[in-house]
Formats: sequence, C-alpha cells, structure tokens
Amino acid sequence: MITLALSKGRIFEETLPLLRAAGIEVLEDPEKSRKLILTTNQPDVRVLVVRATDVPTYVQYGGADLGITGKDTLIEHAADWGGSTSAAGLYQPLDLNIAKCRISVAVRADFDYASAVKQGSRLKVATKYVAIAREFFATKGVHVDLIKLYGSMELAPLVGLSDAIVDLVSTGNTLKANHLVEVEHIMDISSQLVVNQAALKLKQASIRRIIDAFASAVGK
Ligand code: AMP
Repeated sequence: MITLALSKGRIFEETLPLLRAAGIEVLEDPEKSRKLILTTNQPDVRVLVVRATDVPTYVQYGGADLGITGKDTLIEHAADWGGSTSAAGLYQPLDLNIAKCRISVAVRADFDYASAVKQGSRLKVATKYVAIAREFFATKGVHVDLIKLYGSMELAPLVGLSDAIVDLVSTGNTLKANHLVEVEHIMDISSQLVVNQAALKLKQASIRRIIDAFASAVGK
C-alpha cells in the first residue's frame, strides 16, 4: 500500500492532474465527503486528507509514504529539526511547481517601513512563519519581536498588534482589501513532493514510479 498525504484546497486540486499522469484517479471529493482516507482507482494507493502543516509530520513518522506541501511549511517544519528536511527523515526529490505564491513582508499603507528600518527601530512582526521571518530579518540586520499567529495575519497591523506581517501572497487581493502593502519579497513558494526515507527503501519500485510520473508531468 502506498499512502499519499495531501491538504484540501489548492494543493489537492492542483495535484489531481499529476496523479492522473501517474495513472491514479482519486475516487472521492474531499470537499463533499467527510472521509479522511480517500480511495483511488489503484487498490494499493490511498490519499490522506490532512492539514497542510501536518503533511511533513505524517510523512516523517511514516503515517504516509509521500506528501505534498508548500516550501513554506517544509522550512518551518525543518526548523524544528536543525533546519534540514533530511534530518527530519524526509527526502525532497521534486519541486512540483504548483500552488505557487510568494512569502512577503507587508505593512499598513500608512506605515513608513523604509524609515523604520533605516532608523534601526525594533519591529513587531506577526506571522505563522516564524523560522522564515527570523532568518530573513536576522540576515537584514533588523531587530524584530516575532508574534506567532495561526491565521488571518492581515488583521494584526490593523488593530495595532504588529507593525508588519510575514505571509503568503498570491494575487495580492487580500492585502489590498485590508489596506496593506507588500514591502519585501522574501522568497518564491511552490509545493514540494516529500517522501519518507525509509518507505523509499522499502517500496522503492512503486514510489519511484510515482516520482517519475510526477517529474515528467511537471516537465522535469
Ligand atoms: P491573495 O489574496 O491571492 O494574495 O492570497 C492571500 C491569502 O491566501 C493569504 O491569506 C495567504 O495566506 C493565502 N495563500 C495564498 N497563496 C497560498 C498558497 N499557495 N498556499 C496557501 N495559502 C495561500
């Protein structure tokens, strides 16, 4: 049995064509069903529906053989393991180029970020991406107090909880709707395939077949 961990929404939708390229059709729709284990047309392949941030954990501990998750989530997970995904028992063979977005710093349109940085002010930064934010501001030499949030980061500067946020940006519409502006582009993000290192050894042939089919589907 091969088990693939996915999260609902964009990653799930954009993974379906890759699975099809590997001859795998998911037989249930996670938006309609409450089932957390989805069957496929291949009796020996199943899909787990988990929270995006839990994908690396499922794969690391062997609850799933493979998983697909954003580079942002992987960096944050790896930070708990000395910063390396391989130290967390994860093999990361392929950038799938799906669910593409960027991780950026944003502030209220009326906040003068450039001056605050130039003056060496201590910035309050709200984010779910603490490791990425810490590394970015440390490299830039900006002192920050990081405030960990689990969602709706855009709200923090509006109510004075923080001066800035570090969050994923895709179209920029959410920032615009909340009168926030992007002031730094930290990195581009896309979804990555991660594989449990032990599973790769034990189920070499079936996992390789999936990796190769995904690779040719994304043109690599
Ligand atoms: P947008 O309004 O298109 O810029 O999207 C921004 C909102 O969607 C933010 O709340 C982000 O956290 C979230 N978001 C954007 N892209 C992604 C992605 N690839 N994966 C997960 N969340 C995302």
